[in-house]
Amino acid sequence: MKLLETRKLTAFYGDFQALFGIDFHVDEGEIVAVIGANGAGKSTLLKSITGLLVPPAQTLYLDGKPIAGLTPAKIVHRGVAMVPEGRRLFASLSVEENLLMGAYGGRRGIWNFESVAKLFPILKERRKSPATALSGGQQQMVAIGRALMSNPRLLICDELSLGLAPIVIKEIYDALKTVAATGLTAIIVEQDTSTAKEMSNRLYCLQEGRVSLTGISRQVGHEQITAAYFGLQANALLQQAQP
Ligand code: ATP
Repeated sequence: MKLLETRKLTAFYGDFQALFGIDFHVDEGEIVAVIGANGAGKSTLLKSITGLLVPPAQTLYLDGKPIAGLTPAKIVHRGVAMVPEGRRLFASLSVEENLLMGAYGGRRGIWNFESVAKLFPILKERRKSPATALSGGQQQMVAIGRALMSNPRLLICDELSLGLAPIVIKEIYDALKTVAATGLTAIIVEQDTSTAKEMSNRLYCLQEGRVSLTGISRQVGHEQITAAYFGLQANALLQQAQP
C-alpha cells in the first residue's frame, strides 16, 4: 500500500528546472533512502513533499489522495514530519520546549515527551538546558524527537549524519531502527551511501533532477550506485582509467 507517491513530479526555481518527472513512492512501513550528489535534487524533492515548494497538481499523493498545494502546516497535520538538514532548533527554547513545539499541530499517538526521553535518555537529563548548549549529536536527537512528537505517519530525515562523528551517527541510526520497528514509515536522505543502503528497504538515486537508479537496497551494488551517482562523467572517467 503506497503511503506517499509522486507522479511525474517537476520542480522549478524561477526558470531553472530542478526536478524532471520524478516517479517515487514509499509503501507503508518501509524505509526508503534518497541518495545523490550535491545539487542532484534531493532537498527539492523533500521540499515538494512537505509543501515548502508547491508541486504541480496531480503530482503528489498521500494515501492515494492529492496533497499538492496544501500548506506545510496542513501536510504536517496529515502526518508528514521532517527532520530538516542542519536541525533548525529553536535557539531560545529549552530541550523540552523544542520537543513540545513538535507536538503542536500534530496527531495523537505513541510519541510524547516520555517516549522520546526513553529513546534518547540524555534528553531527559538535559531537558531544561537551552537546545543550543547540547552537542551536535544531542541536537540531532532533539530534532528527531521534535518530529516524532507530531506522531507522523511518514518521517522524513534530511542528512542526519551531516557533521557528526561516526560513533554518534551509529547511535542516531540505531535509534532510528528502534523507531522503524514500531512500524513507522520513513524517507532518509543521505550523502553516506553505505548508511543509506544499510538503513533502507529500497533506495532511489537522483542525478541532475532525475531518478538515475532505484531498487531494493541490499540488491544494489556499490558500482551501480557510483555510476548512478555521478552519471556519464563517472563512466567516462572509468573508461579513461581502463588500459
Ligand atoms: P545538497 O546535497 O547539496 O543539498 P541536493 O541534492 O539536495 O543537494 P537541491 O538542493 O535540491 O540538491 O538542488 C537541486 C538544484 O536546484 C541544484 O542545481 C541547485 O543549485 C538548485 N537550487 C536549489 N535551491 C535553489 C534555489 N533556492 N534557487 C535556485 N536554484 C536552487
